[in-house]
Amino acid sequence: MADKKVLFIDRDGTILVEPQPSEQVDSFEKFAFVPGAISGLKALSGLGYELVLATNQDGLGTPSFPYEDYIGPQNLMLETLKGEGIVFSDILVDRSFPSDNLPTRKPGVGMFSKYLAGGYDLAASYVIGDRDTDVLLAANLGCKAIRLVAAPAGGFAADAAATPSASAVIPGAVGVIPSAVEGSPAASDVIPSAVEGSPAASGVIPSAVEESPAGTGVQSADIQKDTQNNPLQNDRGYNRQSSDCQVDAFQPRAVAEAPQPVLCARSWAEIAEFIRLGSRSATVKRTTGETDICVSVDLDGRIPTRISTGLNFFDHMLDQIARHSGIGLQIEAKGDLEVDEHHTMEDVAIALGEALRQALGSKRGIERYGFALPMDECEAMVLLDLGGRIDFAWDVTFTREYVGDTPTEMFRHFYKSLCEALQCNLHISARGENNHHLAEAVFKAFARALRQAIYHQPFNYDLASTKGVL
Ligand SMILES: [Mg+2]
Repeated sequence: MADKKVLFIDRDGTILVEPQPSEQVDSFEKFAFVPGAISGLKALSGLGYELVLATNQDGLGTPSFPYEDYIGPQNLMLETLKGEGIVFSDILVDRSFPSDNLPTRKPGVGMFSKYLAGGYDLAASYVIGDRDTDVLLAANLGCKAIRLVAAPAGGFAADAAATPSASAVIPGAVGVIPSAVEGSPAASDVIPSAVEGSPAASGVIPSAVEESPAGTGVQSADIQKDTQNNPLQNDRGYNRQSSDCQVDAFQPRAVAEAPQPVLCARSWAEIAEFIRLGSRSATVKRTTGETDICVSVDLDGRIPTRISTGLNFFDHMLDQIARHSGIGLQIEAKGDLEVDEHHTMEDVAIALGEALRQALGSKRGIERYGFALPMDECEAMVLLDLGGRIDFAWDVTFTREYVGDTPTEMFRHFYKSLCEALQCNLHISARGENNHHLAEAVFKAFARALRQAIYHQPFNYDLASTKGVL
């Protein structure tokens, strides 16, 4: 069945804290769960995904990493998770060193032939991990990648500053599936989930899970690390999407073609929430004889904001919506400005309202209502209800025909069109002397109202309605 979906989950740095500097969980003293990992994995259980543990364990079974040092903490982790109802359907462990360049080592897909052979909807599956190699693995498998970038006190991720030869790119691995995926070298066994063999380590849970190793004794000569990106965080506390995981989404990236995660998460709660809810985003394209509009929104701010309508002051106002609501907003509008501003502003409003409505989806978990009160020296009040019924009220008087290159009479029409496309109640009133401030106060107040109304309480899936539908 092609509808089987998988969460391929990294271990060290993702489920278990990765000890520094050894990067090996080779004793119980080094054993610790990443904060939130258990509850996050539990939240993801029962969503229809197979859970597959996929981990590189450098030189496992060699003198540098004896198997008996590994299996105790490994089994403790598995049994702890099992006690919470979290069970892996498969456990894939590569035991080679980076210098071996084996196709089984992540981001190679040599361990994943079962999932590449068909029967799995890999496009709907995820790789969850803390490194570039996990993101590359996802690309090689055709999955989506979620990168955990958080580093709580004490640090569980590799310290880039302490990494002598840190590299954001795994040489020769960007988006490339290693050619020799057939055959499983002795140093990189694929370990099935339920196997024979009882570990000798004291304190080990009796139900041993893995077989004995077949190490080669190869010594690590070139342990490779990847850097930890420094994700930006928007002012709502969400992390922006992959393109923003680079320091600046508007800067050319050093590796333009490098695969990117669909989410850079700071916590397991964010990962679980993202997978459970999916992305609250939408793109609407609207082409008529008068305008050609493309609007993309991400209610959780995971896309960078870019706005271009040909009207500078209008762009400035739309940027206020993005900045003060916390949404990611991209608008590309080419309108018949040679006629006047009307069609461009109207059609942007329609496309924006439609995109916001689509991105809200079922509206489960949202606050639904929003309002905002005085801004600056102007009084601007915006009342918003995303309940699905349309009602529009406008009480704003401009004393100038234009602010910059934008006609003030079009502000009412913009919000009325947006209201109808978004299918909301929208009541706007404002007072003020300076027309620039007045317009800006209205846009900021709307943005703040929108911010409140679309806010989604984590793990709240209730509808803010007794009717059962919004
Ligand atoms: Mg890791």
